[in-house]
Amino acid sequence: MKIAEPYSGFEQGPIRPPSESESLLVRVSRNCSWNRCTFCSMYKDVRFQLRPVDHVLKDIDAARFYVDSILAAQKSGNRLTQNELYALSPNGEEGDIQALHAAYNFVSNGMESIFVQDGNSLVIKPNEIIRILRHLKDAFPDVERVTSYARSHTIVRISDENLNLMANAGLNRIHIGMESGSDKVLTMVDKGSDKATQIAAGQKVKKAGIELSEYVMPGLGGAALSRENAIETADALNQINPDFIRMRTLGMSVAAPLTQQFIEGDFDKMGEVDTARELLLFLEQLNGINSTIKSDHVLNLFQEVDGTLPGDKQAMMKPIQDFLQLDPQEQMIFSIGRRTHRMARYSDLDNPVQRDYALQMCSELGVTTDTFDVAIDSIMQRFI
Ligand code: SF4
Repeated sequence: MKIAEPYSGFEQGPIRPPSESESLLVRVSRNCSWNRCTFCSMYKDVRFQLRPVDHVLKDIDAARFYVDSILAAQKSGNRLTQNELYALSPNGEEGDIQALHAAYNFVSNGMESIFVQDGNSLVIKPNEIIRILRHLKDAFPDVERVTSYARSHTIVRISDENLNLMANAGLNRIHIGMESGSDKVLTMVDKGSDKATQIAAGQKVKKAGIELSEYVMPGLGGAALSRENAIETADALNQINPDFIRMRTLGMSVAAPLTQQFIEGDFDKMGEVDTARELLLFLEQLNGINSTIKSDHVLNLFQEVDGTLPGDKQAMMKPIQDFLQLDPQEQMIFSIGRRTHRMARYSDLDNPVQRDYALQMCSELGVTTDTFDVAIDSIMQRFI
């Protein structure tokens, strides 16, 4: 007989999209149900588990309890210390420090959004996720956004009726890691969804009236599939017209299988200049949609790729075009400056102070125009 897992307090998983940094994180599952993408190292050593629904509901109640305690203390002008707040218990037993920290973060960020964790939460039974969403709505009726990651493969298996029920229960944004629209690239990285599935899932989310955020990964096909990655990904997105396209340039995490392939010479990872060329081609190919593009990940070279199509397309492409026109020395200065946080935007290349900082970094790292990409790969590993 299977022994029921005891409740061991409020839980949070390790990741959330950058845009959910201010959200209350509610963990309904642990890790990722697929866990095979070769570029991803996030959950490689841990098993996927569903959390019992009543545990998730207890987490939500604990968060609500501490939110109420914090708000009551703020209202009365009574500045309770963390220890005093901790001593207040949601269930008459021991306090829950994780729930308290989550509630603090949530209150201090205005209590606008909730993110349902981990990597593929919609894989749980529809009636269970709907029960959790309804409980969230009852606990936090004023929250504007309830969001989750979901795999395309999972979404196409949810009936339209259940997706509509999820939307009615409050789920109003889904983040999909599309990564690429190329079947060759998707197969190469073992994404577990082909282009047709990515398109069907995206269209289905939109049809349910849920906001859709698609993550794409420039560079994922390496040099051999760079052009294909740009053209096929843009084509898939043109057929979906998601609300958001979020860029997350390929970075090589130490523990990712793709990094091992790269070390063994089986993956031809591109440097900054070729990746910029792919990004430009990708943007050129986006047509007939009005998605907002966000460059909200630290792995992206160009912060300026941020705007709404079609109006902002030229402005988003301009810094990449300018970068590609530079001589190799200038490309190195900007790339190193940006990757070491000496520069934030392309225009910083013209700022003498930031330029000097970047040149200093080039000298400290001992890089040349032939070697700076190697240094950048190692710097970027720290961001993943
Ligand atoms: S589906 Fe997402 S979390 Fe799961 S292995 Fe792939 S990239 Fe990682």
